[in-house]
This record gives sequence, structure tokens and C-alpha cells, in this order.
Amino acid sequence: MSGRDTTNVTDTQYQGYSQDHPDHTDNGSAIGPAGTTSATGLTGPTGTTGPNDAWERVTNRMRQDIGEAAWRNWIKPLRVGRLEDGTLTLEASSNLARERVTSQYADRLRVISAAEFGSVKKIEVRVVSRAAPRMSQQKPATKPAGEALSAGLDPRYTFANFVVGKPNELAFAVARRTAESATVAFNPLFLYGGVGLGKTHLMHAIAWHIREQDPSRNVVYLSAEKFMYRFVQALRFRDTMSFKEQFRSVDVLMIDDVQFISGKDSTQEEFFHTFNALVEDGRQVIISADKSPTDLEGMEERLRSRLGWGMVADIHPADYELRLGILQAKAEQARLAVPDKVLEFLAHRISSNVRELEGALTRIAAHASLVGREISIDSAAELLSDLLRASSRQVSVDEIQKRVAAHYDVRVAEMFSARRARNIARPRQVAMYLAKTLTSLSYPEIGRQFGGRDHTTVMHAVRSIEGLVATDQGIAEDVSLLRSLLAN
Ligand code: ADP
Ligand code: MG
Repeated sequence: MSGRDTTNVTDTQYQGYSQDHPDHTDNGSAIGPAGTTSATGLTGPTGTTGPNDAWERVTNRMRQDIGEAAWRNWIKPLRVGRLEDGTLTLEASSNLARERVTSQYADRLRVISAAEFGSVKKIEVRVVSRAAPRMSQQKPATKPAGEALSAGLDPRYTFANFVVGKPNELAFAVARRTAESATVAFNPLFLYGGVGLGKTHLMHAIAWHIREQDPSRNVVYLSAEKFMYRFVQALRFRDTMSFKEQFRSVDVLMIDDVQFISGKDSTQEEFFHTFNALVEDGRQVIISADKSPTDLEGMEERLRSRLGWGMVADIHPADYELRLGILQAKAEQARLAVPDKVLEFLAHRISSNVRELEGALTRIAAHASLVGREISIDSAAELLSDLLRASSRQVSVDEIQKRVAAHYDVRVAEMFSARRARNIARPRQVAMYLAKTLTSLSYPEIGRQFGGRDHTTVMHAVRSIEGLVATDQGIAEDVSLLRSLLAN
């Protein structure tokens, strides 16, 4: 290849492609008179397939031809500039990229492009700094933002899949309202709560809902980390202009886990400006964090107070009812046959967060499909012992004995006594049963704490109460009440 004119590649320099790929013609002029495709023809609507589709097909073809690595380095970053008089101008971001594309890939690009765009006789590569506006007249920011959105959204995180209970009803209601209203409802909407309680789920649900209702609204969902990453990236390429530009065309901006922006001064500053610009412009901003705005540490005062101006809704840890509801819903969705009792057991014992509940269910499902039979409370307890131990607040036998004694109105000393009167023996059995299900102690260990009883006595007690829970409504209610009292 001639070193003098590295940016231009003419017809004659190409060899071989049409032989390998007979479906492509090497003859650019066969497609139409040169010069008929103007620059606007590239960017304007061209029937069902626009220029971006055509370019995508070109790069896909290139990808097959030259392999993933080379493609990603050299072809993927290219942008279509214009097509004029049979010359397709591509934009590269550096001299190196221009040299490489021109010397190695231009021939192939020309032939493939000719098939897609028509009348491409020459490929020209120019270096364009990333900040410069592209030839494309469409809002350049809209597209990448939209792509980023769909890439990061979990299809399962919808309103329909969100189980509502007391602890999250406010957050759910305002999220729904925000998603449904065509105008800005609360600005900003600030959702906060501990890990795994459904903040991300609600944000994705809002995004899905808006997309469905009105695809023309530009919704951008970003984790705070990604926001920072993009910003730092922009700084590196001295391209904060287009960084800002991206957000200017946004209708709904969601930043998840904003606590991660704490402490990073320049990002905070940028976030603050972006945030203000959007809110002042009447765009919806939705923020999530693990703490309320006032409690966000390492965050500038004015930003903290600004974040609290709109609607602040917190998600409380799921209570027993909600945990059970979520488990039932998830088991149903996954078409898992888990006995109610096992679900109740899990809802009792795993109280930290919803993610752990899901993890437990997944493990149970995997186990059930492996062994091919339904899971019992015992096998669930064994299967999840690590989870249960880590998750449950350690309840002591001592506490159990006190609670049970108080509930049945007997003296705590009766828990250790040898008396067998039924009004005393039954509460003692309930306490042993709870000790077995709420702690990780073995039968002999429990026996020892009940006045030195034999492990078989404890086993018998546990079995009796298990049976009664299934048949005797009164006992079932006692046990369930005591359980939740001890769990909290
Ligand atoms: P966060 O962002 O608050 O840390 P996530 O939104 O990631 O929590 O939720 C963790 C997991 O729990 C997700 O899989 C989510 O679908 C699920 N989840 C949380 N709350 C609910 C709920 N109320 N109903 C159904 N699933 C939920
Ligand atoms: Mg989250």
C-alpha cells in the first residue's frame, strides 16, 4: 500500500473479497450512480432500515471476517461520518486507529459497505475528537443512553413481580405513581433502605413501565458507580461537554446506590450540577441510597439537602408476612413445589433481606431437582444451615424459656423441673421444640439446658409438637406467635 495516501483506498487496491464471498459484488458502481447518496440520505429515514442498521450490518460482517479482537479494537469504535460522491467517510478517534483501519481494513470495509449503502467507491478515515458533533443529525446522546438502559435492566424486576407489604408499601406506591404520571410527580424521588430490600427492583420497574407506556421518553438508569466511571472517563478524554450533553436529553434519570458517590468531590460536584440542571428543566430524577439524604455521610451538605427536597420514601426490612408472601410468589413463579411449612420455616428463619430468601429458595429448588423429592423442614434446615446461622439473630435457650413461660403463664423454673403435669409439660415441650428450630443446638445440648434431660426426651418433645402444629390450631398459633416474638 502506498504510504503517501494512507487515508484513501480506491477500487483497484482491493483483492480477494468477492471471491471469498460471492454474495457481495466488488463493483460499487453497480449499485447506483455515484453522488446520489447525500449526507442527509445517510442520516434521514431510509425506509425500514436506517443508516445505522446498514452500518451495523457492515460491522457485523467485519466481525465475522476479521475476528472479535481486531474488530473490537479497530472497527467497533468507528463512526459513520458521511457518504458523498461515493466516498464513505469514517471517523476514528486517534491517528493510530486511522492508520490501522486504512492500511488493513479499508478494502474490505469498502466492499461490504458498497453492498449495504450502495455506491461506495472509496473509504476515507478521518480523526475526529470524540467531543466533536458527529455527522448524524439525530440527538447523539439518545441512542447510547437507551442502549445502556436496556443493557442494565433486569426483565424480572417489574411492578407485577414486586410483592407489596407494610414495610414497602409507601415506596411501592410512590414508585408506581412516578412511573405512571406523564408529568413529573415527585422530584427527586429518593428511595432508601438496607441491602437487598428491593430498591433496584423498584427502579427497574419504573424504567420498564415508562418504556412500555411511552418509548419516546428517554429513561436512563445508571448505578452511581457507572455514573462516576463515565464521568472520570470523560475527564480523561477531556470530553465533559458530551458527558453533560448525554444527560441533557434525558427525561428520566435514575442513579442507583448514590451513597457510592460520597466522598468523590469532583464527581459529587458534577452530579450536583447534572441533578440541578435536570430538575430545573422539569425532568424526573430518581435516586436510591442505603440511607436517608440527611444520613448520607461524606456528602456535601448542599447536595444532601437538595436530595431531600422531593419525595423521600424508605423501605423497611421485610416482616414475616412479607417474607412469606415473597417466598410464595417466587416459588410460584419458578413453579417450585415447596410445602407451605417449609416456606413458613424459611420466612421465620431468614430475616435479613430478600436476596437471601431468594438464595435459599434457589438452593432448595436445585436440591429438590437433584434428589427428586419434596423438601422437608429438616432437609431445608440442613441444606441451609450456613445461611440460617448467619442470618438468624442468635436466640438463646434462656430467652426461649422465658418467652414460653410468660406466654403460658408458668414459672420459668418449671422449664427445668421434673414435674409432668400437662399444663407444665406442654409448654416445656414447646420450648424444646423452639430451641431445636431456632438455634443450632443438638438434642443432647438442648436436653442439658432443660434440667439435664435425656436427648430422647427432647426428640420426643420436638416430634410431638411438630405433630400438634399440623393438627391443633391452638398450638400452631402459639408456636407461630412465639416464633415471631423471638425472631424480633
Ligand atoms: P436493593 O437494591 O435494595 O439492594 P434489590 O432490588 O436488588 O435490593 O432486591 C434484591 C432481590 O430481592 C431482587 O432479586 C429483588 O427482585 C428481590 N425483592 C426485593 N424486594 C422484593 C419484593 N417486595 N417482591 C419481590 N421481590 C423482591
Ligand atoms: Mg440495589
